[in-house]
Amino acid sequence: MNFDIAFPQTFDEAISANENGARWFAGGTDLIPLLKSDFVHTTRLVNLKRVDELRGVVETNDSVRIGALTTLAELAGHELIRAKYRALAQACDLAASPQIRNMGTLGGNLNQASRCPYYRNNFPCYLHGGDKCFMRDGENREAAVIGYHDCVHVHPSDPANALVALDAQIVVRGREGERTIAAQEFFRAPDANDTRMNVLNADEMITEIILPNDSENTRSVYVKAMDRAVWTFALASVAVKLEIRERSAGDSTRLETACVVFGGVAPIPYRELRVEKMLSGKEWNKDLVTQGKFAVLQDAEPLAHNAYKIRLARGLLKRALRECLENA
Ligand SMILES: Cc1cc2nc3c(=O)[nH]c(=O)nc-3n(C[C@H](O)[C@H](O)[C@H](O)COP(=O)(O)OP(=O)(O)OC[C@H]3O[C@@H](n4cnc5c(N)ncnc54)[C@H](O)[C@@H]3O)c2cc1C
Repeated sequence: MNFDIAFPQTFDEAISANENGARWFAGGTDLIPLLKSDFVHTTRLVNLKRVDELRGVVETNDSVRIGALTTLAELAGHELIRAKYRALAQACDLAASPQIRNMGTLGGNLNQASRCPYYRNNFPCYLHGGDKCFMRDGENREAAVIGYHDCVHVHPSDPANALVALDAQIVVRGREGERTIAAQEFFRAPDANDTRMNVLNADEMITEIILPNDSENTRSVYVKAMDRAVWTFALASVAVKLEIRERSAGDSTRLETACVVFGGVAPIPYRELRVEKMLSGKEWNKDLVTQGKFAVLQDAEPLAHNAYKIRLARGLLKRALRECLENA
């Protein structure tokens, strides 16, 4: 395949360079294999690496802003992110392998393609413009158990789950200008008519991710179950953000609000509103963690080989809550 590569230095140059089906190029860890497999066809790559406006982690009065070119390794090791947004640091640290984390950027991670083995092995599935999901009745151990339509793949991004739990905003820019999308509204479940995994238009790039400046009563955590300790996607995972308050000095503490987002179980980061409601307003102590009965993924519709994900998700939630308690 022949293509040229543009090296813009500003947002405006990047957006003008993205025409006729061009593709953004960041770390290339996902895009290069897709180009080699002939799954992505383009005559132009727009390399974002020289656009300095896309770099950096900046703290403002009311937020922390992360440039889309920030690598997963930078985020995993970043002092401020580790201290204030632990779930995001952990999600980045648990993603892929050290080599990929060094190259892979947050923007590219959020817009990576499906990891469904049928898609990656070029079966004529919905994601390739076909009229069938092969995973649904095939090797579906890793497939979605909830929130799916025609295609039963799961969203592959770990950071995506953390960003939804942390109530992040995703800023995108294209020919029509800039818009800011809540992380929770950004991802979508592909279907037969629209196979996109998020709401980005073809000419739009992610420029930055904005995290709210949470109070010091907030804590978050990300835990992930994998087939091996590194270099693999989640069988299931959970990102939890809790806001905890002491009722009065020396008195018991209360869980004011909880945000619970499961990964590896749906084509989108799956927010468990029912569990959030169960947790909110409760006394925050060991009993809640050990004895609480959490209606995790109650509406799941598992396939032949993946019902185990429901129990796994429940166990991960308990682990995440325990970790929050221990790190109080
Ligand atoms: C073996 C392996 C294991 C992995 N395991 C995990 C895992 O466990 N968890 C996990 O979360 N991820 C995992 N990944 C995915 C990895 O994290 C991503 O490949 C990486 O983060 C993508 O970033 P990149 O900068 O290399 O993107 P690129 O490969 O450059 O781009 C990926 C896609 O995003 C688009 N893109 C790039 N930048 C932007 C932007 N700013 N705005 C809009 N679109 C953009 C590109 O056009 C392309 O479509 C794994 C990948 C591999 C190869």
